[in-house]
Amino acid sequence: MAKGDFDRRVQEFMRGRNGPDDMTRVCTWVALALIVVYLFVPAWWLSVVALALIVYGWWRMLSRDVAARARENERFMGRLGPLRPWVSSPTGTLRERRSHKVLTCPRCGQRLRVPRGKGKVRVRCRRCGTTFEGRS
Ligand SMILES: [Zn+2]
Repeated sequence: MAKGDFDRRVQEFMRGRNGPDDMTRVCTWVALALIVVYLFVPAWWLSVVALALIVYGWWRMLSRDVAARARENERFMGRLGPLRPWVSSPTGTLRERRSHKVLTCPRCGQRLRVPRGKGKVRVRCRRCGTTFEGRS
């Protein structure tokens, strides 16, 4: 069987199915983390939880009810809060953290992005108009 043939079969099989999404990725990473923990702390329930997460992740990937899975994913991502960018794009977030810094407005708490390495900067909050200084 040629490689292209296999790829086409996989594509055909995955058509109309949910495929890997953010929630599936989190399930897989948490499962892998639990397996690593299990190597040091061999508690039986760790392996059961890890296996359940992997099975659940696969079930999500192969599910044909794409709309329901998308809703679950959206709700799940909403609950993640500040972790959200790390889950949806870890490398992008890392690059962003290297090039920019986030300052918080002392008056209203608005978060403002400034480029790193510019020393002391004066910024004007775009929400409340307060001007304040911060290190970039
Ligand atoms: Zn402000």
